[in-house]
Amino acid sequence: MLDLYLKNGINAINEEPIEIGILGKKIIAVSNKLEGIQAKNTIDLEKSLVSAGWIDDHTHCYEKLTLYYDDPDEDGYKSGVTTVIDAGSTGSDNIEDFYNITRNKVTNVFAMINIGKTGILAQNELGDFSKVQSVPLKKAICNLKDFIVGIKVRESHSVVINNGVKPLIVAKKIQKELGGQFPIMTHVGANPPELKSVMDLLDENDIITHVYNGKPNGILDKEHNISTFAWEAYRRGVKFDVGHGTDSFNFNTFDLAYKCGLIPYSISTDIYNRNRINGPVFNMSTTMDKMLLCGLSLGEVVKKVTEAPANSFNLVTKGKLKPGYDADITIFDLENKEKELIDSNNNTKKTSTVIKPKSVVVMGKYYKI
Ligand SMILES: [Zn+2]
Repeated sequence: MLDLYLKNGINAINEEPIEIGILGKKIIAVSNKLEGIQAKNTIDLEKSLVSAGWIDDHTHCYEKLTLYYDDPDEDGYKSGVTTVIDAGSTGSDNIEDFYNITRNKVTNVFAMINIGKTGILAQNELGDFSKVQSVPLKKAICNLKDFIVGIKVRESHSVVINNGVKPLIVAKKIQKELGGQFPIMTHVGANPPELKSVMDLLDENDIITHVYNGKPNGILDKEHNISTFAWEAYRRGVKFDVGHGTDSFNFNTFDLAYKCGLIPYSISTDIYNRNRINGPVFNMSTTMDKMLLCGLSLGEVVKKVTEAPANSFNLVTKGKLKPGYDADITIFDLENKEKELIDSNNNTKKTSTVIKPKSVVVMGKYYKI
């Protein structure tokens, strides 16, 4: 006897029929058509699209902060996202509290630990280099190894002030001490530090977020070509992440990069309370709408919010609809309706295809949105 049987869905990646059987917190059967199923609860998806639960690998959802904060469930399951990864809101001082207060959330919550011990208590958390301390950081990673999935380093001028890439160098050293594969996500923005000096330090275990921003210290050179150092990082396997945010996604940058083949590895929002309510982020599906409009296929977009972030952050039981994987599932429709999309620099585009999340399964439990 299954706990939950989802029937009559359409797989969003290959557009084939899909049915899923769930027992407890796990997917135990997946097929075009499951025969002879007995389940405590059966839901007819009526040909809605189905994907593995969406994973947003750049969010800010430690509710006790004042700058970037949110309720993980507002960024999460209520908008179709079954897993949120907080991107460095907390450091070794406060990450245990963050862990404790997120245990009763519906949404799966993971965190990258900020290289600065206070997390983002203020915008310049890395301006005072005495806050970069390896010992308590490594201790926190060890104590909370099922929660802390990476290290976050914000490498832009307002954050590091005069410390340049020094915090990133410390993070790379810690990564090496941990065996080399523990992911580092680096945020980029205004200089100094120069984008080149940040990118040159990264390799295939690292994620760079806010890549498609419209700032002067971006991936484009003065002639609006992709800079050589950006191509070099991309070809080295550095994972380029969207990290839309309030200031960090520009349609022109994205269109140019996409045309050249500099395609994001993963799609994320950099969502927090204010840019969720006032825009331009609003939610994950709006960011996905933008990717669709810019030319990515639905299958590509879905993989970049499921398999890709699961791979980046070693979430080995998430990101796919396969037996043995966690029963995290997003059910949604593609609606034909006019919608204006706005980037972080007030550029707008109109779309007529809108992704509308309808329901989710999170660790085996079904929730209508
Ligand atoms: Zn962020």
